[in-house]
Amino acid sequence: MNMPKVLFVSSEIAPYAKTGGLADVGSSLPKALKSQGADVISVMPLYSSVDRAKYGLAQVFLSSCVHMGNCEEWYSVYKASLGGVDTYFIEFSKYFDRTGIYHTKAGEYADNAYRFAFFCRAAMQTAKDLRFKPDVIHCNDWQTGLIPYYIRKEEDFFFNGTKTVITIHNIGYQGIFGTDVLEYAKIDPADFHAESFESFGGINFLKGGIAYADKITTVSPSYAKEIQGETGGGGLHLLLSYRRYDLEGILNGIDTDEWNPETDKYIPQNFSAETLHLKKINKLALQKRFMLEENENTALFGFVGRFAGQKGLHLLQYAAEKALNSMVCQFIIIGSGETEYEKYFGSLPELYPLRASSFIGYSEEAAHLLEAGADFFVMPSLYEPCGLNQMYSLGYGTLPIVRATGGLDDTVKNYNELTGEGTGFKFHLIDGEALYNTIGWAVSTYYDRPRHIEQMRISAMKENFGWENSASRYINLYKSVTSV
Ligand code: ADP
Repeated sequence: MNMPKVLFVSSEIAPYAKTGGLADVGSSLPKALKSQGADVISVMPLYSSVDRAKYGLAQVFLSSCVHMGNCEEWYSVYKASLGGVDTYFIEFSKYFDRTGIYHTKAGEYADNAYRFAFFCRAAMQTAKDLRFKPDVIHCNDWQTGLIPYYIRKEEDFFFNGTKTVITIHNIGYQGIFGTDVLEYAKIDPADFHAESFESFGGINFLKGGIAYADKITTVSPSYAKEIQGETGGGGLHLLLSYRRYDLEGILNGIDTDEWNPETDKYIPQNFSAETLHLKKINKLALQKRFMLEENENTALFGFVGRFAGQKGLHLLQYAAEKALNSMVCQFIIIGSGETEYEKYFGSLPELYPLRASSFIGYSEEAAHLLEAGADFFVMPSLYEPCGLNQMYSLGYGTLPIVRATGGLDDTVKNYNELTGEGTGFKFHLIDGEALYNTIGWAVSTYYDRPRHIEQMRISAMKENFGWENSASRYINLYKSVTSV
């Protein structure tokens, strides 16, 4: 059976550079595609934060060139391999030799439109330079949103027959900029209109990507529906519902090599559904590390994630505070982002010594320990395209408490008090009180119906969120648009 050749383009690929779930997908999806027989290579920018020595980056092309506006941009290409996938890095110091990926504390980089317009061109040129003629270019988010347009307009025979797929990882980020970039990006003024890139007088990279791609995917079936509605579509709902027959929701998988309680190298005690009693060793280690009272019988809630409005942190702040003042429970919060939340959650250890703690920053190791040690994982997201942490939690028998939205709704089964069935606790309203009540529901179940908690943990750990299923759906999608 013929398998498609795929050029996977992403602005983030873990572990090289990561700000969120996009990077996790950027590493695990190509790996899964490859293991199913597809011929895949990936391309990303070479940010200065990428550890060249650690990942053994080697130069492939010293000087490649793309034409942007009326100038030539000369850059180099590097390569590294991980998990059997070759990733090519675009080294261009003018745009990528900076401390942040998209922004610094002071704000977004003013030239992001230029940086990623260039990246789109350079990613395509890299395929040409490598003589890698893709059946499909798989684009991800606004940073790659110009590629479907470039492919439609491409005159070079090399890309004859190449199709494009764009995946929307989060419609909250669309890449909207001033029109000054049109010339540099070589977008024909005749193609700049409301059915393509134009949006309230500016250019919207994601919108153009959606308009010109052959297929559009997003990262869960529920989110695919939500973004076609006015509330969830971020202004693009009409375009998305117009293209609904080309839009598919494919649930992200998780990297089960990285996130597996039986083999996880970050945690003091490996365990499985059969040795669930060992989970408490991680709980005690987690409590110790975060200077909480070391008590295996206290209900322990955790959160890991970006401190962004989308994650429902104001609900978490309200509900955690109220729960800590009214219930026997502990909280550990890991994350960074908006200052207001960094301040509040950073002050938890002083506000509730021995009962609540936090780490403000990014720590892979602490995130693994929390997933392994906590009893419950809270995700009160206002919207959640897919979400990875709730799937990690399920795999570690840490019951998610989620708002029923997007991928959270698709992956967590609500607790049934009569039978003990389910894998977590859900609430619907965007309301701190609703979250507080659901935390209360979890706490009372924990103390009053421990058998149900155990049953739920085992059910959760038996769910399968690996990539096999989703990767074959992507392969079928690629085949549906190509002649392969
Ligand atoms: P999003 O992409 O919206 O940030 P996801 O749940 O899809 O949310 O993915 C977030 C990823 O980033 C997960 O792998 C999560 O564990 C990780 N992550 C986020 N913040 C932190 C942090 N402070 N420390 C460790 N890992 C983090």
